[in-house]
Amino acid sequence: MDFYSTQISNLVEHLSHLPGIGAKSAQRLAFHILNMPSEQVEGLSAAMVNAKKNVRYCKECCTYTDDELCPICASQKRNHKQIMVVENPRDLAAYEKTGKFEGVYHVLHGAISPMAGIGPQDIRLDELMVRLQGDVEEVIVATNKNLEGDTTATYISKLVKPLGIKVSRIASGVPAGGDLEYIDEVTLYRALEGRVEL
Ligand code: ZN
Repeated sequence: MDFYSTQISNLVEHLSHLPGIGAKSAQRLAFHILNMPSEQVEGLSAAMVNAKKNVRYCKECCTYTDDELCPICASQKRNHKQIMVVENPRDLAAYEKTGKFEGVYHVLHGAISPMAGIGPQDIRLDELMVRLQGDVEEVIVATNKNLEGDTTATYISKLVKPLGIKVSRIASGVPAGGDLEYIDEVTLYRALEGRVEL
């Protein structure tokens, strides 16, 4: 079946490991890359290598950044007493696009899932608890509306409530089972506005 040269097969193989890229898409991308001008291909590969090398976790909110603090945590214009907890940086981006949230974020990089063997210690909860020792008024849990997201929300509320900090959960405007990043901005904004205290 190896009718391509080794190098092409190698490229197709690497691309097919990317999420959402099947064998056919990998082939299409590989040939697209081969047809690109050399400098564009070099730019693409340098962007990947540099991002991988230089991007790290924000020391406050754990999102990806290339500085010690991400631009949101570094901003004086944001309300640092209000922390929205999201599962991943894509959810953070989705909420930022609404332009309506003035607080800061905390990125868990996952959700608790006993089925998948992901426990509280596997997501960035310790880092959240450290932040809550500071001056925080509200934690808004904006994990996804599915079993894992709900389990995580319940767990967080149990941790945070005894600290005397308000804990709320985004409203049910977000469809059950819905991934936040695919939901439109108006729906996200309504979900935030209609959040309920846990
Ligand atoms: Zn940050």
